[in-house]
Amino acid sequence: MVQKYGGSSVADPDRIRRVAQRVVATHRTGKPVVVVVSAMGDTTDHLIELAHQISARPPKREMDMLLSTGEQVSIALLAMAIQELGEEAISLTGAQVGIRTDSTHMKARIQEVRTERILRELEQGRIVIVAGFQGIDELNDITTLGRGGSDTTAVALAAALQAERCEIYTDVDGVYTADPRVVPEAARLEWVAYGEMLELASLGAVVLQPRAVEYAAQYGVVLRVRSSFSDGPGTEVREVSPMENARVVVGVTYDRNVAKVVVVDVPDRPGVAHQLFDALAREEINVDMIVQTTKAQQVTDVLFTVTRDDLPRALEITDEVARKLGATAVHHDASVAKVSIVGAGMMSHPGVAARMFGALGEAGINIHVISTSEIKVSCLIDEVHVEEAVRRVHRAFHLDQLGSAAAPKASQA
Ligand code: ASP
Ligand code: MG
Repeated sequence: MVQKYGGSSVADPDRIRRVAQRVVATHRTGKPVVVVVSAMGDTTDHLIELAHQISARPPKREMDMLLSTGEQVSIALLAMAIQELGEEAISLTGAQVGIRTDSTHMKARIQEVRTERILRELEQGRIVIVAGFQGIDELNDITTLGRGGSDTTAVALAAALQAERCEIYTDVDGVYTADPRVVPEAARLEWVAYGEMLELASLGAVVLQPRAVEYAAQYGVVLRVRSSFSDGPGTEVREVSPMENARVVVGVTYDRNVAKVVVVDVPDRPGVAHQLFDALAREEINVDMIVQTTKAQQVTDVLFTVTRDDLPRALEITDEVARKLGATAVHHDASVAKVSIVGAGMMSHPGVAARMFGALGEAGINIHVISTSEIKVSCLIDEVHVEEAVRRVHRAFHLDQLGSAAAPKASQA
């Protein structure tokens, strides 16, 4: 059994003790337990702040050296807490386990997980505590897996150890149809398909790292997202057959970390879009939504969105390309937000997008940009309306009724 505990679950000594009790209880049922932990509370944020007090652009290798210390603290303390309860436990860093990654510092991808050391310790009857979020590359340099990366560590270990279960403990008791702080009537989903979870996580639901969901889908690791503060069943993330999945929409998410850039009067000829977006890609700026509108006189406007963190650099690059292309202006707006609906069932149900637009239109909320995939629809709107938009859309799809009552029955298909 692999259990992962997030930063809020190990934020102080009392919480660490509580986690220790939960881990020990599982261990005493006779199951070998591997535990993955995040850094305590806001440790990682504080370490990042600290680095920025020293350097405006801290070298990524040194950032990884710094950030990986957070998890080293929490694994040691949890191992001590477990030993206080009379069980044997040992803490291991990513390097000690043999979590091998590529060398993309701060965004490394796991390539291989060695299991010998963990298996040896489990055979001795020990509870193994592994530092989340970190690994080592081929130079034995420490790497980290991107924010929220402990989830991916847990999934990778569960896959490598062929664990029976992978439980992700956090401060919410599962995956909800919307952020319960915004929509009080949001319902906990009993289960959600990998593809849906991946979209939800990528579009703003912070409960799981998207990479962890991708990894789980790839290796068929069934995840259970649960609260470390209560005993609820949580939400299962797994493969769902189309027959089983009668739900058109399973959730509404929002993301405020969005900014839009508009390049005005770009010449309308082949190769122009490539010039702009290639320049952005070379600087590793992820572009999300893109719209191009053709105007008169062989010119077009190109609109795209990036994260707000990337906006300053995106503008530098865009200004330069725009000048070369002879565009007349570059505008930007960071007071926008993205609201999205997700559901594998929308593929086979017409009218889903229209219903979302209707809910926004009735509320007088203007849509700037729309983008769709088979299982999601996203709308860019003004940030001031984001909470209202989420509530309206949630209501339009009756998502409050999707809770436990919506558990799949064969006859529903
Ligand atoms: N401590 C890291 C972070 O805050 C990794 C994690 O929590 O999963 O992003
Ligand atoms: Mg964290």
